[in-house]
This record gives sequence, structure tokens and C-alpha cells, in this order.
Amino acid sequence: MSQAVPVIVVIEDDPAIRLFLRTGLATHGFKVFEAGTGRQGITEAGLRKPELIILDLGLPDMDGVAVIKAIREWSALPIIILSARSAEQHKIDALDAGADDYLTKPFGLGELLARIRVAIRHSAKQPGLGGAFVTGGLTVDLIKRQVLVDGEEVHLTPIQYRLLSVLVKNAGKVLTHQHLLKEVWGPSYGENSHYLRIYMSQLRQKLEADPNQPQYLLTESGVGYRLQTLPASTDG
Ligand code: CA
Repeated sequence: MSQAVPVIVVIEDDPAIRLFLRTGLATHGFKVFEAGTGRQGITEAGLRKPELIILDLGLPDMDGVAVIKAIREWSALPIIILSARSAEQHKIDALDAGADDYLTKPFGLGELLARIRVAIRHSAKQPGLGGAFVTGGLTVDLIKRQVLVDGEEVHLTPIQYRLLSVLVKNAGKVLTHQHLLKEVWGPSYGENSHYLRIYMSQLRQKLEADPNQPQYLLTESGVGYRLQTLPASTDG
């Protein structure tokens, strides 16, 4: 953590959920500032210099996606969105606008804390271009263009490698189908999600111990994929 007491700004119009978040997060060592509207939330985000923002997508004064876009104009700080189960497309729009992760209501405190830890860790050390990325037994060196599984080099095709490198650069973050398609195949391929399924399955065959129960390349059902960040395994 970069400060003694990590600060979280909660932007949520439902007072019961705000109370739940404030008390739950406070007992786990976070200082919480609250906003009941999008406009107030943007102000708080600028004022409080939080480590992270928790944002409800359904706000009375403005759309949560617009809040994300406003914050992304000046900050890359992690944003976790809260969405209703019925609002699948809304959630995808929010991720495409730059949100880092999401939780579907109702959610538990343990789940939220786990997501917060991943998001803060991810923002604290952006993989960038220096050094190799390691999760579990998987190592990806973006400079050497080298991929190792338990110390053994794995050869990928150019598209498999490109897909993996996009995931590595956003490790821990949910990436939507459309985002991945654009990054890997280009803007005109936004609708061809079967490409993604095929290449993701090829990557799992090469990288996962059990491709049917992946530990690195996780499916976010109906939304996209996430490269799981795990402690480095000691073997290999
Ligand atoms: Ca709401």
C-alpha cells in the first residue's frame, strides 16, 4: 500500500449498500469516502486521492459509464463497478470505458476485498515493458517474446502470442470480448467472437495443466476473459 491508510471512494446512491461498504471496508483497514451521485463522486475522486474507486452504475444524476470516462480523462486509478444482474451490456460498456473489474449485486464482502486487493496490486506494478510477468508457473517475457510453463519454453503462433501479451499487459483485469478482438485482430473484427474462443482454447491447450479447468486464462461468462494473477510457483 502506498499510504498508511488506503483510501477508497464509494460512489453509490443506495444508502444501505453505502453503509455495508463503509463498515465492511473500515474493519479491514480502509478509509472510505462516500458520494451519492456521479457528480459528487468525480469531485471526491479528485479530492481524496483514493487508491481505488467503487462505482455503482445506476446513479440518479448521470450514467456510471460517463463517470468512468470523466475519471479516465485524468486518472488511471482502479475502478471496480457494481452492477445489477440484469445489466450485462451496461457492465460491458463500463469495462470498455476503462473500469478494471466488476461485482454483480448482491455480492459478499470477502469477494469484494479479494477484487480490491487484485486491483490495487495491479495498479501498483503495471507490468509495462520491464521484466517478465509471472503468474503461478507461467512466465511471459514481453521483451524476449518468450513464454515458459514451469520453466519449459512454449512456442506460440503470432496471434496466440499477441492475445497472450494483451492479457499480460492487463493482468488481473477483465477484458471484454470486443476489447480483445480489437487489440488482437483490429477494429473491424469486433464481432467475430468465435476467433477469440478458438485462440483462447489453443492457448489453454499450450499453457494450462488442465485446459478444461484453467488456472491462468479465466472465462468471465458473457463478458470476456481475465488473466489470473497468482503468486509465483517455486518449481521450474
Ligand atoms: Ca444505484
